[in-house]
Amino acid sequence: MSLPPLVEPAESLSVDEIRRYSRHLIIPDVGVEGQKRLKNAKVLCVGAGGLGSPALMYLAAAGVGTLGIVEFDTVDESNLQRQIIHGQSDIGRPKAESAANSVREINPYVNVVIHNTAIDRDNVFEIFGQYDLIVDGTDNFATRYLVNDAAVLLGKPYVWGSIYRFDGQASVFWAEHGPCYRCLYPEPPPPGMVPSCAEGGVLGVLCASIGSIQVTEAIKLLAGIGEPLVGSLMVYDALEMSYRKIRVRKDPSCVLCGENPSITELVEDYEAFCGAVSVEAQEAVVDSTITARELKEMQDADKDFLLVDVREPAEFEIVRIPGSVLIPKGEILSGEALAKLPQDKQIVLHCKSGVRSAEALAALKAAGFKDAVHVQGGVLAWVKTVDPSLPSY
Ligand SMILES: [Zn+2]
Repeated sequence: MSLPPLVEPAESLSVDEIRRYSRHLIIPDVGVEGQKRLKNAKVLCVGAGGLGSPALMYLAAAGVGTLGIVEFDTVDESNLQRQIIHGQSDIGRPKAESAANSVREINPYVNVVIHNTAIDRDNVFEIFGQYDLIVDGTDNFATRYLVNDAAVLLGKPYVWGSIYRFDGQASVFWAEHGPCYRCLYPEPPPPGMVPSCAEGGVLGVLCASIGSIQVTEAIKLLAGIGEPLVGSLMVYDALEMSYRKIRVRKDPSCVLCGENPSITELVEDYEAFCGAVSVEAQEAVVDSTITARELKEMQDADKDFLLVDVREPAEFEIVRIPGSVLIPKGEILSGEALAKLPQDKQIVLHCKSGVRSAEALAALKAAGFKDAVHVQGGVLAWVKTVDPSLPSY
């Protein structure tokens, strides 16, 4: 399915712009007309992280006239393995500002708009309303559903991408012409089922593979060329080096874009909708949560307890809390590790951020380890509040 151009052409290109974009101008399908459309286009990139980095850089280089960046985070050293829009000297700076600097350096003709904020249900319409097209580079389900719902309700197309380890996916969601994200994923995955890149890792260069698909789709939509990924899901496997294109149909019973939608405005609380942790885990942590500082005090007081790290071996190699033993969450949930655990002393669980340890805690409590507790914020909290000399990841 080909679609008409999303954007009207700008009046003209300057002599400098003609020189800069000459390799585009001589492609018949783009030409001066297509380049003028890019110049007139307003594109918002949600996130200036793994996917946002290549997306913003290539959108800027391509000559998209207005580029919005919505991002609240600051640059961390662990970002630099893949977030190539930021550099060593940007560590600690707001990502939106660092990204805007790079964009201006790549192409001074781009008007950069910085939204140094977290996108939420209160500001999403106001921000999205300023743009023709959204590029979604978010890495969590709550924001993904928020982006989708706002885009559908505003009738705007958005280019979606997702990455994990060696696998990537991309699509264009545009309810007027095809499915939305909810048609494909009506429900968020059960909490803890799909690890984030922060928990599971991602091959840095995968961001370029998927980000470049997103930019390609954005340019096609803006200029009205080719066949956009509306109604198709690209699935990329870096280990197999395979790209598969899967047909995705609009779901007539979609709660958002179907024939009788039950969602006609933004959901009250996207975090709750996507659930940071499962109900069992939420119940398990009540009165059974300690802080990293409290863990340190227990260690300093020589309390008799077993500190169990429920992360994966590769994470344990990177950084560990002194005195911890490794028992990955899967072995606790399957019951396999329960026999290894002592009955005569308290068990203290931790993971990277506190999500996996909460799930493991629920399993332990169900198995009768009533006084087990978990560490809020996990290794990240330990590094931050107890021993900043350890690496964060
Ligand atoms: Zn839908």
